[in-house]
Amino acid sequence: MSSTSKKSIGFDVEAAVTPPSTQTETSLVKKPKLGAKSRKKEIPEGLWTKCPNPKCEAMVYDKELDENFKICPKCGHHFAITARERIHSLVETCSFEEMDPDITSVDILQFTGVASYKAKLEAYQKSTGLKDAVITGIGKLGGFRTALGVMDFSFLGGSMGSVVGEKLTRMIETATERALPIIIISTSGGARMYEGMFSLMQMAKTCGALAYHARAKLPYISVLTHPTTAGVMASYASVGDLIIAEPGAMIGFAGPRVIKDTTQAELPPGFQTAEFLLEHGLIDAIVPRNEMKERLMYYLEFLTAGRQQAAGQ
Ligand SMILES: [Zn+2]
Repeated sequence: MSSTSKKSIGFDVEAAVTPPSTQTETSLVKKPKLGAKSRKKEIPEGLWTKCPNPKCEAMVYDKELDENFKICPKCGHHFAITARERIHSLVETCSFEEMDPDITSVDILQFTGVASYKAKLEAYQKSTGLKDAVITGIGKLGGFRTALGVMDFSFLGGSMGSVVGEKLTRMIETATERALPIIIISTSGGARMYEGMFSLMQMAKTCGALAYHARAKLPYISVLTHPTTAGVMASYASVGDLIIAEPGAMIGFAGPRVIKDTTQAELPPGFQTAEFLLEHGLIDAIVPRNEMKERLMYYLEFLTAGRQQAAGQ
């Protein structure tokens, strides 16, 4: 047993940093004072975020939000989370080896709408620090080495173009070769129309690779987060051995207005939410983000138990 004391080591006194300069006007990097009476006035903008749930609208302290996996502490609303934050919340520290980080899209159709596709790609690459809408790699969740693909909605609406399809396919094929389970965490507006048919072809390609992975009797867990729709939902996101979703996630193929116009039917309340789909059997479980890692490890243990037993014999 370790004899290390868990006692905090004297941070109840002010941190031993250089005392603030008396020339206050020049100390640009001075931290805002918290806990003082004038606290409200001194809080700079951007430290608080309003919960977008209309029934809640609580002002949440950003630090509290970050510590709570970006879940509203008042109502449980799941805020959007970047792919890097998501990976960080799941894998063991330093265990993630990213695959193909530098593949970028080619503007094969020379597509120009309001802005050219090329200009859009450059703008999103700059604003997100990503090359495209998915990060893939191999990492460890607890004791399980797993192929992990995580989409990022902030890159062109998480749309699936040839880079998303190619990176996922390479990851799936590597997982099949190395006999690893796969977890893909989706969030997407669908296929990337700037790439026309090249983006639609990714649906078949990813599913084809997953079929070989399934034939090798390896598990694939698909995690649907808000929102997962259209071409992504109609391909790899919906073919998991287990399909789980985050609470309140919007999941579907076409938007409700299109369905209503096409079918001329009144849509039931809660249509296209994770909760509705759980009730109707399309997904297997709803897992809050702060329990996601534990639950994925539990599922991985369950799904790989037979394989581990066979390997031990
Ligand atoms: Zn809230």
